[in-house]
Amino acid sequence: MNAAGLDDLYREAILDHGRNPRCMGKLDDATHTGCDANRLCGDAVTIRLRIADGCIEEARFEGEGCAISQASASMLTEALGGKRVEDAERLAAMMRVALEGREPPAANTLAGLLAGVRAFPERVACALLSVHALERALGAAP
Ligand code: ZN
Repeated sequence: MNAAGLDDLYREAILDHGRNPRCMGKLDDATHTGCDANRLCGDAVTIRLRIADGCIEEARFEGEGCAISQASASMLTEALGGKRVEDAERLAAMMRVALEGREPPAANTLAGLLAGVRAFPERVACALLSVHALERALGAAP
């Protein structure tokens, strides 16, 4: 897929998740919580996970801010349900590498899709917000 195609796909996904956020809301029996905020544009994302036996049984997010931060949180949270913790850690690492542009992302992956945000460099921090929140929730934050 060429760069223009990827950007279109990214824009579509952002609009879709922005209009219909998945996995949004409270998770009262969460076992793991992580949040992050970006003072620059007022974005905030909290990710809550219910983890049992090394598996993410349910993931939800709450947040406010720009469309990119909220849609990214929606896409990420949707991808987490049913994943093993180590797979979620791998996903967060892949997304960080893709968003920071250190390696070209694999097409047809969440990381590849979200890497479309690199067409808008000032918004990369917005997309990374939910990755930070997830890493904190998993206890993997530095
Ligand atoms: Zn933002």
